[in-house]
Amino acid sequence: MNPQTLPAPLLPAAGPPTLADLLLGRDPRQRLRVSRSLLAAQAYLVCVALMGYAVWADFMQPRPALVLSGLIVANILVFYAVLRSGFNQRFAEPALTLPQILSALTWIVGAYAITGPIHGSTMMLLALVLMFGTFNLDARGARIASAYSVVLLGATIVYKIFTEPHHYSVELEVANFVLAATTMPTVSALAAQLARMRARLRAQKDELALALERIQLLATRDDLTGLFNRRHMLEVLEQERRRAARSGSRFCVAILDLDHFKHVNDTHGHAVGDEVLRQFAQQALAVLREADVLARWGGEEFLLLLADGDTERARQAVERLRDHLLDHPGAASVPSLRIRFSAGLTAYLPGEALDATIERADRALYCAKAHGRSRTQVG
Ligand code: GH3
Ligand code: MG
Ligand code: MG
Repeated sequence: MNPQTLPAPLLPAAGPPTLADLLLGRDPRQRLRVSRSLLAAQAYLVCVALMGYAVWADFMQPRPALVLSGLIVANILVFYAVLRSGFNQRFAEPALTLPQILSALTWIVGAYAITGPIHGSTMMLLALVLMFGTFNLDARGARIASAYSVVLLGATIVYKIFTEPHHYSVELEVANFVLAATTMPTVSALAAQLARMRARLRAQKDELALALERIQLLATRDDLTGLFNRRHMLEVLEQERRRAARSGSRFCVAILDLDHFKHVNDTHGHAVGDEVLRQFAQQALAVLREADVLARWGGEEFLLLLADGDTERARQAVERLRDHLLDHPGAASVPSLRIRFSAGLTAYLPGEALDATIERADRALYCAKAHGRSRTQVG
């Protein structure tokens, strides 16, 4: 990685797939969708168990129970296949929450219709499904789900009052229907509230991520040139030192100091001086290799970390920069101006402290200045 770019977000580690990977997939968002669907499937299974009990206790015939259970299992498998295969990603709402909730409501109202004397217990399951919807649907979806459940339940109740009045008496069904018709709108209002909260949280999360990025930028970059600042460069150097200790890699350090920069300020003004510093940074980044890291060390001094351990090759890289600067204006506002610099270059010696390396580069820089400037001294 080029250290001058910000670190990429952490990616999930690759490795042999676990059982959970096989069941739920590896993409975190898809995983959440599949696991939510399987969680909802538990409500279905309770429904199937309830019908099993009703058959065992002779409350209902086995045939309708078997048919509805078969439909429920098929429903679970179809949604699982659609989510697990990634087919769901073709839809605007890839979690398929509303279709899942609507089908769950259908099967549970179906159970309401066939469980005879114990049909009242399926009301709890209806509430459970809507609760699930409360957390996962948006406001519109929740309205649709609650209206659908009221209408479907109402129609079922009317039908059952006429066809099976001994188990679905008018008195009992009126109470059931009123209960459903009054709680469903509350559920949908709650869902709308939660959806708004989720949207607010998402917006706050995005703002925080932006702020964090900005803070990271401020903490690691120099305002004027956009290069790494001294503090961050010390961290980069330390990383490089550790890498050298670990793997025996080698690197060089050069301190570059603009020549007679005070004169630039005095002659052309501080603003042009600033422009020269920015121009120097831009030109250097254009010429240096990806693996080399440049930082503003302070004032008109820059520290260059060269990923090459060979001082001769490192010196050539610095000289390339020098030649490039002589070919380009040092500031757009003063086209005749050329940036000149002196450099002290040294190789990091295995095992030594970074301070020692930097001090050696500094001494070499002093030598370059003393010997007439606009040159590179290897120390
Ligand atoms: P030498 O060749 O010996 O390095 O001479 P010099 O003039 O470059 O060095 P000196 O240390 O005497 O002066 C450095 C100048 O750099 C003084 C300071 O005002 C100026 N300087 C430091 N930071 C900035 C900055 O951010 N913007 C501008 N415009 N000037 C700066
Ligand atoms: Mg200086
Ligand atoms: Mg200087």
